[in-house]
Amino acid sequence: MSSDIRVRFAPSPTGFLHIGGARTALFNWLYAKHTGGTLVLRVEDTDRARNTEEAARAIYDGLRWLGLDWDEGPEAGGDLGPYFQSERETIYQTYLEKLRDADRIYDDAGAVRFRFAREKVVVDDEICGHIEFDMTSPETNPDMTIRRPDGSWIFHFVNVVDDIEMKISHVIRGEDHLSNTPKHVQLYRAFGAPLPRFAHIPLILNKDGSKMSKRDQGASINTYIDGGYLPEAVRNYLCLLGWSPKDNREKIEIEEVGRLFELGKIHRKNASFDLDKCTWLNGEYVRELSDDRFHDLARQALEKAGIDLGKFSPDYVRAALETCKGKFKIFSELPPYGGFYFSDEFEYNAEGVAKHFVSENKPRLLSVREAFAAVENFDAANLEAALKAMAAQLGVKVGALVHPTRLAVTGSNAGPSLYHLLEILGKDKVLARIDRALSKF
Ligand code: GLU
Repeated sequence: MSSDIRVRFAPSPTGFLHIGGARTALFNWLYAKHTGGTLVLRVEDTDRARNTEEAARAIYDGLRWLGLDWDEGPEAGGDLGPYFQSERETIYQTYLEKLRDADRIYDDAGAVRFRFAREKVVVDDEICGHIEFDMTSPETNPDMTIRRPDGSWIFHFVNVVDDIEMKISHVIRGEDHLSNTPKHVQLYRAFGAPLPRFAHIPLILNKDGSKMSKRDQGASINTYIDGGYLPEAVRNYLCLLGWSPKDNREKIEIEEVGRLFELGKIHRKNASFDLDKCTWLNGEYVRELSDDRFHDLARQALEKAGIDLGKFSPDYVRAALETCKGKFKIFSELPPYGGFYFSDEFEYNAEGVAKHFVSENKPRLLSVREAFAAVENFDAANLEAALKAMAAQLGVKVGALVHPTRLAVTGSNAGPSLYHLLEILGKDKVLARIDRALSKF
């Protein structure tokens, strides 16, 4: 790495990677990419009650899924570790002694408190600008606890010690930490350490303006991993949560974002989270997937839904999937959309049954069966001609035959182009499925 810029992502392992954390990690990663700097991953696990190992793994998995690699940290190594706060006890002790020598701490009922300098603290934030915090009054800013009576450390202390020790040049994190920053600045000064640059990223809000919490829809990265989203699409969407290229483009390659990304260009207003927009963007990426990747991901999605593709010829699977391309936005939509190709035992859509499996349609569907049975070369063009000729013969609109036929062979009212899907299913399956449907009338 050529530059001296060192940034870090410092999650507390809460069990999953939150979308806000993922965006903080992404912005740090982008800044490191833009400047040729180093990204450190540090696990802030001073809360001993949690199972760090497993919870940290959820964070690595989420970051890796998004393609956000780190240069130093767990599973990457580095000279300034350990990268788990739970393993840095002696370092914290040394720093506590520094404060004791400088007469900046005192004991208070077993806890250790840090004596604030009674002054105004100015934070020049790369995003939020120049902010003054008045810390002159002990009433509003009482001296802060840095170690609890049980010996455990308070976040502010260990966070600052680690940033000093890990030579962090830029602290890029969520705006919820802005109000902590004057406390941190006081610690830096007490240690005689140079201040890093601070950049606080505005919050992510729900559409209704409320602050996004753990339980909100789309808050966990697992929603996207399990829901059949593409990592590059989700990462693209996260870029737009507080940053944008000047020209209003929404779909933008990550390499280009890395080139354009500057802290000063991060928006100052809160970002509004819109899962539908993320899903829409995903659809744009799905549309442009290479055939091979599309087929791989489609196969995975179907197999995950319990469909055994091994029973079907590769040509059949490929032709079936071809008719689904561009028709869905996320891969979890594929099994309900195209699953009928791989199962004869599907349920019929209830609304469709009420509308189309009605007595007047029974003879019509029988006629369609007859017409299809007579088609020698079972391809889309011939099937279309046969169905249309039958509609003319019966004196009904084409739709009067199309809808019950589609429901009979797919179980659904919507799906891929009817004549193409009939061709792919083939004559035997189509006739058998019409027979099965006829028995439901
Ligand atoms: N562990 C803190 C958090 O997850 C880190 C804050 C920071 O980045 O300084 O909020």
